[in-house]
Amino acid sequence: MGIVGIGKIARDQHLPAIAADGDFVLAAYASRHGRIDDVKGYHDIAEMTADGPLDAVSLCTPPDGRYEQALTAIRAGLHVMLEKPPAVTLSHIAALEQAAREAGVTLFATWHSREAAGVAPARAWLADRTITAVRIDWREDIRRWHPGQEWILGPGGFGVFDPGINALSIATEILPHELFVESATMDVPEGRASPLAASIAMRCGDAPVQVEFDFLQTGPQTWSIEVDTDAGTLRLAMGGSILQLPGEDETTQPDREYPRLYARFSELIAAGKSDVDVRPLRLVSDTFLIADRRVTEPFAF
Ligand code: NAP
Repeated sequence: MGIVGIGKIARDQHLPAIAADGDFVLAAYASRHGRIDDVKGYHDIAEMTADGPLDAVSLCTPPDGRYEQALTAIRAGLHVMLEKPPAVTLSHIAALEQAAREAGVTLFATWHSREAAGVAPARAWLADRTITAVRIDWREDIRRWHPGQEWILGPGGFGVFDPGINALSIATEILPHELFVESATMDVPEGRASPLAASIAMRCGDAPVQVEFDFLQTGPQTWSIEVDTDAGTLRLAMGGSILQLPGEDETTQPDREYPRLYARFSELIAAGKSDVDVRPLRLVSDTFLIADRRVTEPFAF
């Protein structure tokens, strides 16, 4: 397989996960600045697909531009794995799904947070509970986790929804009813296109869902979801890796998110299937449509 975009997530997670996976061998990469020793490098995906015999590609670039990269790969007959968010618009991802279907290749829109250890047991526990309220708090320091990533506050960069969409990927996975957006406010720094904070009122069945995203959180960082039910409150913390059921101690397990994504990619390819769930992106898109946007003071990294 090949990989495109050698930035933070490629180095932190994708390269180790591919190296440890028995089904994939990294044969090529496309990157303008990055280098990987002993692997053939190209400037971009068009050069890479034109030259090498590859079966699959993993796109680890920012979301803006991923549509063109994915389409190039699909048209070259490659199976494609997309980092989250899968595209900047819903119509882009619909077009990619159609292109993959016509080309007979697998398209896998990944949501790594869904692979966190607490998510599957949370989903199972919530399946037959009555949900009465949900609180989602995703607060992290942009300067600590995304140093110098100017793209994240640009058009199509998602701003605080870049991490926030991870929370929505978990919520759409574990809650037994569809979520929808009722109202929202977004704080966009002067001169930037994407928000640093958002407060969203959603609903899940009859239950209110309050969502708080903050990209300026210093001190303790929070990635938590609390679900009140008729049988008590379920808590997911640390991005889904810690689960606490009512009356029980916290459980936590080692992070296996990316190894699980590559194992799933391999299964999908073997089965001739795609996996594209746009629900988290749809909630972000709806929020951007109806939010009251407030311009806040300029931001510098
Ligand atoms: P990053 O560190 O900025 O790396 C992205 C890489 O993509 C860059 O190094 C650049 O590398 C390449 N690229 C291609 N076109 C680009 C463009 N127009 N602008 C900027 N870079 C471009 O970003 P990242 O944190 O790895 O995030 C990439 C994707 O992974 C995002 O969708 C993000 O949501 C997702 N993700 C990130 C994290 C995290 O903790 N950072 C976690 C999970 C998922 P080249 O020089 O190689 O072209």
